[in-house]
Amino acid sequence: MLDQLPAQSPDALLALIKMYAADPRSDKIDLGVGVYRTDDGSTPVFAAIKAAEASLLETQDSKSYLGPEGDVEFVRLLAPYVFGADAAYSGRVEGMQTPGGTGAVRLALAVARKAGVTKVHMGVPSWPNHAQILSDVGLETSSFIHVGADGGADVETVIRIIAAAAPGEAVLLHGCCHNPTGIDYSPAQWDRIAAAFADSAVLPILDLAYQGLGTGLDEDASGVRKIMSAVPEALVAYSCDKNFGMYRDRVGALFVLAEKVGQLDAIMSNLNALARASWSMPPDHGAAAVRVILSDAGLTQLWLDELAEMRARIASVRAQMAEAGQIGPLDLTALARENGLFSMLALTKDQIASLREDHAVYMAGSGRINVAGLHSGNIANFIAALKSVTS
Ligand code: PMP
Repeated sequence: MLDQLPAQSPDALLALIKMYAADPRSDKIDLGVGVYRTDDGSTPVFAAIKAAEASLLETQDSKSYLGPEGDVEFVRLLAPYVFGADAAYSGRVEGMQTPGGTGAVRLALAVARKAGVTKVHMGVPSWPNHAQILSDVGLETSSFIHVGADGGADVETVIRIIAAAAPGEAVLLHGCCHNPTGIDYSPAQWDRIAAAFADSAVLPILDLAYQGLGTGLDEDASGVRKIMSAVPEALVAYSCDKNFGMYRDRVGALFVLAEKVGQLDAIMSNLNALARASWSMPPDHGAAAVRVILSDAGLTQLWLDELAEMRARIASVRAQMAEAGQIGPLDLTALARENGLFSMLALTKDQIASLREDHAVYMAGSGRINVAGLHSGNIANFIAALKSVTS
């Protein structure tokens, strides 16, 4: 039977990583995979994580099973960073640890389906895995265009979609640092989106995978918080893999907002059952390290400082790119108005291929670049390559 499975096309980004690795040119530039890089092009382990791991090595006295909900204390300590210290709705929120943000998205969509959601509206372009998980979970996807003609987020469209959606439908939004466009809603636009959700019966599903990499920890969560304050129910998929640099250790959480406190136990029992049937329980180590950080004031400050440094470097690369202004059809000033690791360059397939073949610049076929792949040693070369392929 297995021989009848049709071959699936390989993940384009993973294929790009292989091509990059095989390229012998010493001045090659990797703008593909979505990880933060320092000015020397590395993706080091946070010092706060190293310290937490050292402490875990010393103090952890058992590897015995936890449960489908994972490290409960990790989730309890994380929540105030996501929702603020004194959110009025905090009593109606409960969460559980998941294997990365991907596990959280998967669990959110699975529980939405179980609760009777049939269709999910999603802005495009989006993180490609959103569509894959939606289809795998058996939910119908309806897409709308995320970016307007002015190059900003098209807020009128999302508000129209929310207003028109029927009960039994959900709308999936990125909380900040939109992947792949970097184009986020403004605070005033989030107010309008929250009001639209309040007036509708659709379920908000919010994906917050880059908190702290945009404009600030609180600022990056402000859209999520506005919606949570306005609606009876919501799901928030969260990743610590970027803001704690834990990528391969798979640290995430799913939070649920219930209309009434008394409904939380039943909802959480469904999340537990779904998690049990999927991965049984999440991997412990990464969340345990984050818990050690968040339970120690000194380590928490160290983490906040490291995160602030990342954020400042991303902003500085964006500002340097914006200084290049207009290059052929490309308006690089837009990069300074966008947030997080990613932006999209309006390049043709041929231009993207020429960047790779003639200039050793590797980026996703969509034109998405990881801004953090740029640094003082390669930014001038990248701009020269852009001029060359667009002239
Ligand atoms: N959501 C979005 C929008 C993402 O970009 C990503 C990571 N690329 C995730 C979720 C999942 O992150 P994780 O690596 O924690 O699974």
